[in-house]
Amino acid sequence: MALIVQKFGGSSVADAERVRNVARIVTDTYKAGNDVVVVVSAQGDTTDDLIEKAQEINPRAPKRELDQLLAAGEQISISLLAMAIEALGYPVISLLGWQAGFNTNSVYGAARIKSIKPNRLQAELARHNIVVVAGFQGINRYDDLTTLGRGGSDTSAVAIAATLHADKCQIFTDVEGVYTADPRKVDGARKLKEITYDEMLELATLGAQVLNNRSVEMAKKYSVEIEVLSSLNPVPGTIVKEVAKLEKMLIRGVTKDTDVALISILNVQDTPGVAFKVFSKLSGKHINVDIILQSFGRSGTKDIVFSVSKENGPLAIELLKGLPALAGAKVLCDTDVAKVSIVGAGMETHPGTASKMFEALYERDINIKMISTSEIKISVIIDAKDADRAVSAVHAAFAPKD
Ligand code: ASP
Ligand code: MG
Repeated sequence: MALIVQKFGGSSVADAERVRNVARIVTDTYKAGNDVVVVVSAQGDTTDDLIEKAQEINPRAPKRELDQLLAAGEQISISLLAMAIEALGYPVISLLGWQAGFNTNSVYGAARIKSIKPNRLQAELARHNIVVVAGFQGINRYDDLTTLGRGGSDTSAVAIAATLHADKCQIFTDVEGVYTADPRKVDGARKLKEITYDEMLELATLGAQVLNNRSVEMAKKYSVEIEVLSSLNPVPGTIVKEVAKLEKMLIRGVTKDTDVALISILNVQDTPGVAFKVFSKLSGKHINVDIILQSFGRSGTKDIVFSVSKENGPLAIELLKGLPALAGAKVLCDTDVAKVSIVGAGMETHPGTASKMFEALYERDINIKMISTSEIKISVIIDAKDADRAVSAVHAAFAPKD
């Protein structure tokens, strides 16, 4: 007998028919002789709708009250799922985050799980109940409700799997797994059998919206193997784990991120301290900088170019224009750009990966504005209008020829 944690996202429980479908998956797992803990998100767009409701009443609603409101979404879905499971004739109990022992810090809207007190979960499992837990929520030291941030139910599921040393952690969603590129947009995009935590983290951070990246960090830390699979189509999904076979593939995925603004500072004095002054000013306002490029100094001046999220572009410009160290320099912002990246642990040991990517772009006459690399990732900044073509070209260049 195994202990299995199954998580279902909002689209998997969107209406009564889908809730009944989830109840069948869960009870089939239980019937096969397993202990089952189920984590669910709010139905469909419930969380967005609740946020909208709050904004109508008070656009600057206190964060504590927002969490109090948002936690209601998952309260609805756990009780409905428990009713559906009971209707199929199985023993079940639903638990809110606090009843399931989720203790968090007090950062409303982005709380971190501090610990899970497993007593209640264990007691309900010992009574042979299927346990349905509200994802995305917990309680802080003041006994107030907190939420973990958007998409937080994945993290709830992984945290339970880690705490209870579950044998399996399955994350059910509306796609069949993790793909080499967005299958709706890229011809030949393939479902991966396996992917490592680090690759998944890069992909999640680069905008592949399958798993929340905090959940992947936690899975890596506690060595929880995750299976991502579809709640609508019962086929094997993608396994996320420490070491994954390369399946004859050099790269694991190609992604596109259009939430990029390029800030250029031209003709700055070529003196010590400029970079420090620029980037400390930005970090003081919590502006996250992604790729940074600085030119060699020539005739006493140099250029610094870097990327931030689109939202942060205007604020970055405003901060830099008032900076004495940049007197005489020109500060520009370009938002018509996109970042295209390839991710794969295989590139660490394969020379020529970068040139293959650049060749694919060159063949399509796509100009690269910036390049950045890590051990398992290469990103380029290009014109936004070229982004989809670039993803397809790069994906085709790396597709295994079989
Ligand atoms: N219901 C929450 C959200 O929509 C949590 C989740 O879906 O994981 O962000
Ligand atoms: Mg949701």
